[in-house]
Amino acid sequence: MAHPALIAAELKNLLEPAQLVDLDVTWLAADQPPPKGEWIAIVPLLSRWVGGTELKNLPKLRIVANCAVGYDNVDVVAAEMRKVMVTNTPGVLTEATADLTWALILATARRLIEGVDLVRSGQWTGWHPEQLLGLELRGRTLGLYGAGRIGQAVGRRAPPFGLRILYTARTAKPEFERDTGATHVDPSRLLGESDIVSLHVPSTPETKGMINGETLARMKRGVILINTARGDLIREEALAQALERGHLGASGLDVYTDEPAIHPRLLAAPRTVLLPHIGSATEDTRRKMAAIAVANVHSVLSGKPPLTPVY
Ligand code: NAP
Repeated sequence: MAHPALIAAELKNLLEPAQLVDLDVTWLAADQPPPKGEWIAIVPLLSRWVGGTELKNLPKLRIVANCAVGYDNVDVVAAEMRKVMVTNTPGVLTEATADLTWALILATARRLIEGVDLVRSGQWTGWHPEQLLGLELRGRTLGLYGAGRIGQAVGRRAPPFGLRILYTARTAKPEFERDTGATHVDPSRLLGESDIVSLHVPSTPETKGMINGETLARMKRGVILINTARGDLIREEALAQALERGHLGASGLDVYTDEPAIHPRLLAAPRTVLLPHIGSATEDTRRKMAAIAVANVHSVLSGKPPLTPVY
């Protein structure tokens, strides 16, 4: 008998029929309200909150197979209490997200968007020795706040650009240090010494709001702040103020606290490159993410351990 499963409707084109055998799929669009019923598996997008109430409305549920590596949209404590497995999609999106992080580093350091706007506006009057002067990367310091899969992949791309690497993580990464010359430092040294700070920690009660007025003030004048992790790591109003005052040189963001809404002051702030949460958005990666999420469902429903559990 096919197992009743809820799968985000937006994943439909990324999945092959063969991946859905033995599942009786109900496609659940992101704008549909929280479902109530007898489904035993759910594959949500990261924009769907799955908390205590939602889990209560799905009393037969055995697995939440989140289609993302971050799982801050799932109340894992409530899930564990109800003996519902939670899985994510680590690894397959590492390289795509690291590439996008570099797109933001280069776009902010070399003022790409301002250049594009100037050309498109028809106001460009020709080459000028002082036009859109940016930050030379060679000899500068890249600070990785978080050096797990994605943070390290970003760091591994840095040596050819001549950047020195500092990183903060709960545990040291000897192999990463050996390969890249990176140095493990405490957060305060990372913030104080880096010319580019790039965030790669998950959103947890300890990390939420860690970039705020106080931590921004500890950063060097002219620093570039990059965030491809989660929006709520940053207090957006404080970031907007730091950009307005010119304390921050620029900021490249892929994620926001209240997506898809963006704090109006941040939207209007100078020297930003704002992307619509496309860190993992390559066709290969998105197919692999959907495949892993559904493979986790098959594993759990056939009585095997999940492939990529979050706890
Ligand atoms: P990961 O491998 O689990 O790495 C997380 C890193 O954060 C680790 O180095 C970890 O330290 C560190 N960390 C965790 N809590 C910390 C704390 N309180 N203080 C300091 N460091 C802490 O995760 P990942 O695969 O690299 O993904 C990172 C995040 O990127 C995800 O959680 C997700 O939110 C985000 N993401 C965004 C996109 C996008 O589309 N923009 C795509 C993919 C992922 P240890 O190594 O010592 O454990």
